[in-house]
Amino acid sequence: MTRRLVGPALLALALLAACGKPGTPPPKGPQASSLPSYQVRSADSVHGSPTLDGARSRGRLVVGAKEDQPYLGQKNPATGEYSGFDIEIAKMVGADLGFAPAQIQFRTIASANRETALQNGQVDYYVGTYTINDNRKKLVGFAGPYFIAGQSLLVRKADTAIHGPQDLNGKKVCSAAGSTPYQRIQKQYPKAQLVAYDTYSACVDNLITGQVDAVTTDNAILQGYAAKVPDELKIAGQPFSTEPYGIGTPHDDAVLRGAIDDALLRHEQNGDWKAAYDATLGLSGVPAPTPPPIDRY
Ligand code: GLU
Repeated sequence: MTRRLVGPALLALALLAACGKPGTPPPKGPQASSLPSYQVRSADSVHGSPTLDGARSRGRLVVGAKEDQPYLGQKNPATGEYSGFDIEIAKMVGADLGFAPAQIQFRTIASANRETALQNGQVDYYVGTYTINDNRKKLVGFAGPYFIAGQSLLVRKADTAIHGPQDLNGKKVCSAAGSTPYQRIQKQYPKAQLVAYDTYSACVDNLITGQVDAVTTDNAILQGYAAKVPDELKIAGQPFSTEPYGIGTPHDDAVLRGAIDDALLRHEQNGDWKAAYDATLGLSGVPAPTPPPIDRY
């Protein structure tokens, strides 16, 4: 009967089942009380950014994010509030640009639509597991990196066949359209049967119901899904790529990009970065790494 349930309903059921089992720890999520607060700097400290000028006259920042990635970017369906490591990064940067958290409006943008959203001015910047690479740099700017992830595989707990991308021949592998993990499987492992959805949570639902054999994306994302239903899912093998996460900016706004680089560095040095990590992504079980050096260009 569970086979007939689809999408979020099924994942919700799996999560509920996991909560109810004796000995299963309650699913941990970011607790508002453990999150750092960020000192809001004077709004006029940065000059010459058309994006910031627009945000100031509108009275709020619009930041693109993900809404279905546990511990990274998640939207509470009841309150509409976003939480997670990427959301904290967006807030600490926003504070340096003169915007308090209440003046930041988050907007969910899927992997395939990030460049267009930045090009069309739908968002002022984007923080959502966004890998910096040369192709994307032709279309958008990147501040950071602020974190390094690596492509991995998520499989059902009982799976014994998949240990790495070399085992994907003939397997149904799900990823998000427009993502670097999708593109890597397409190019380097053409014998895998790729399935694309807009979101990784849709892939995870399909993994739980048996429609696909693996989900592939960054380890940081997959660890969150696995931590939510440890009796159902596990990570297979080791990461097989390097995914430096950047903050996407409109392509020609170098002033904004530089100001975000400054903000990241300041919050890495004053302890906010680690405090934010510990209160969010750290809950999936991986201790805080050292933040990577900022790459100004
Ligand atoms: N970091 C990868 C990317 O930017 C995968 C995660 C995502 O789709 O957001 O394509």
